[in-house]
Amino acid sequence: MSERHFRTCNLCEAICGVEIEHENGRVISIRGDKDDPFSRGHICPKSLALKEIYESPNRLRKPLKRIGKEFHEIGWEEAIGETAERLRDVRNRFGRDAVGVFQGNPSVHNFGTMLSSGALLKALKTKNNFSATSVDQLPHHFAAWSMFGHPLLIPIPDIDRTGFMLVFGANPIASNGSLMTAPDIVNRLESIRKRGGKIVLIDPRRNESTRIADEHHFIRPGSDVYVLLAIVHTLFADNLIKPDRLADFTDGIETVRNSMARFTPERAESGSGIAAGTIRRIAREFAASGKAVCYGRMGVSVQKFGGLCQWAINIINILTGNFDRAGGAMFTRPALDLLQTAKRGENIFGRWRSRVRGLPEFMSELPVAAMAEEIDTEGDGKIRALVTSCGNPVLSTPNGSRLEKALAKLDFMVSIDIFVNETSRHASIILPPATGFETSHYDAVFNLLAVRNVAKYSPPLFGKSPDSRFDWEIIQELAHRVGGSEEPFKAVPPEAKLDFGLKFGPYKLSLDELIKNPHGIDLGPLEPCLPVRLLNDSIRIQLSPEPMIKDLERALNDDPDPSELVLIGRRNLRDNNSWLHASEVLMKGKNRCTLLINPADAERHGLEDGRTARVRSRTGTVEITCEITDDIAPGVVSIPHGYGHKRIGFETDAINPGVSINDLTDDLVIDGLTGNAAFSGVPVSVSAV
Ligand code: SF4
Repeated sequence: MSERHFRTCNLCEAICGVEIEHENGRVISIRGDKDDPFSRGHICPKSLALKEIYESPNRLRKPLKRIGKEFHEIGWEEAIGETAERLRDVRNRFGRDAVGVFQGNPSVHNFGTMLSSGALLKALKTKNNFSATSVDQLPHHFAAWSMFGHPLLIPIPDIDRTGFMLVFGANPIASNGSLMTAPDIVNRLESIRKRGGKIVLIDPRRNESTRIADEHHFIRPGSDVYVLLAIVHTLFADNLIKPDRLADFTDGIETVRNSMARFTPERAESGSGIAAGTIRRIAREFAASGKAVCYGRMGVSVQKFGGLCQWAINIINILTGNFDRAGGAMFTRPALDLLQTAKRGENIFGRWRSRVRGLPEFMSELPVAAMAEEIDTEGDGKIRALVTSCGNPVLSTPNGSRLEKALAKLDFMVSIDIFVNETSRHASIILPPATGFETSHYDAVFNLLAVRNVAKYSPPLFGKSPDSRFDWEIIQELAHRVGGSEEPFKAVPPEAKLDFGLKFGPYKLSLDELIKNPHGIDLGPLEPCLPVRLLNDSIRIQLSPEPMIKDLERALNDDPDPSELVLIGRRNLRDNNSWLHASEVLMKGKNRCTLLINPADAERHGLEDGRTARVRSRTGTVEITCEITDDIAPGVVSIPHGYGHKRIGFETDAINPGVSINDLTDDLVIDGLTGNAAFSGVPVSVSAV
């Protein structure tokens, strides 16, 4: 007799509810949970991978130790004991910064990892701390901290009530929403138009989300900052500033006005390719809407001016009054509120700098673009041992080839991972946690970024094998042993922190209450909460933070060469960064790892559809199949991110290993304000093979 289990899919930010039919320890089917109040039955094809990951014969179930070129299974005591000893040894001989840490994106989708990793960082006390944050979202955090007082105080588009959504550099239909947790995104976006609203999409590619947009405009990669600032310029020039009640607690409006004089729509037109008249019209329509929200994601964050872009987006929402009110950009109030104990007015920028390039830390992390050079550059403070957790930076960070070579030079590396991937294959020891259906889950992070306040706890579906460990057990024990505590070790399940946080949270919930509601609890729409929720000392919105105002000079002095061919990334609904490409179910069908190129550019460079092109940049060369399409702007080519699996021999009839875009991206080109990697707008040359 089959049974049903309800849980949250934790593969991406959308946190969809799934209904799993199972019998005798085997999954029979996975469907959307119609009674989940947030996702309303929606799921995407990736949810099938939950079963594939759980059943995969390639999933590691025991720790591995490298002996020569081969991995061999070892016991947990040996694996954790040797890892702690080697990390301590490197630290004792070379200092605490000789141990580096990289945490990948799945860390924040894992309840246990998320709530335990702080203990390991505390034990290691290294300044060489890196994560996926500086791959794609540092500008959001930087703008949030400098304007509102905390890096997690990120405004979320209230898409369920907005009447005008202006989108820069995003493809929500493929991503299912990003830094905007919004399951059932297609229906949510289509509803904007059904209630008479409008969606305007600005992107160098006519991407999948164009089908639900009223307007799409091509833009030159990296020039979004000029268009965004030109919109702000127009709001001032046309006297469209009406922050309403926000004016009572907003500082710096006049400074912004004075700083915008040179960022005219005409200047934006020459760099971006969007007509000055169009920019002015969009600014006026936005201001007139009464319920509008401006949102920008990957395309505007992973470029040279990511920090300025996210700042300008917040300014547009604030100056038009579309902030902290229904239909605009709003703050969440999650049941487990990570901001509840946040310190007010804390300085978290530039307290130390990276050894080689002198890049500033932010949120106790250094930009990931500096990780390879911190390993491969000789000298005091060089990283000699590395801990990676749920990450694959060889494929996901700029100039992955350089990092790959650097990893081979480490004295010791441990990877907490369930697969041997392009990064963990360099590890000395791999520690594989229990995963997926064997673990409990609560979305500590994505409820903070959700378009509605909800809460849901998922208990494990199946028990883990006695000879396996949860991520939190591994991480806490490593922290205990590296820290050299004399006390006997006892792991604390994340449920203890969750229950405490829920009880003292804004809704006074409890773990028991969530267990009684397996589909989740709807806590209502986002509510206005300013100025009380601001976390800076002044408890006022800072519209003109000094770092942003200073950085405007850099934007004014940047002269992109419009004749250059530039590279951007892209994402497909069936891809999940670098880590679901072993799934034949998700990989079947047309090859998705292609070079998109405009017909005019293809002709100019002698490229043919379906034939191989060679793409070169400062950092490397790849060969890839051409896909000629007028869905990509002239002067721009695109390769999806997350591919390049030839390194681990990941190839079957159904699976194209593809090439890694990060063999072309440049670790030396970053957003000079925030340190985020600048993946978008990489100059390349192309030729036929
Ligand atoms: S959209 Fe994301 S959370 Fe929802 S089913 Fe797909 S992968 Fe899972």
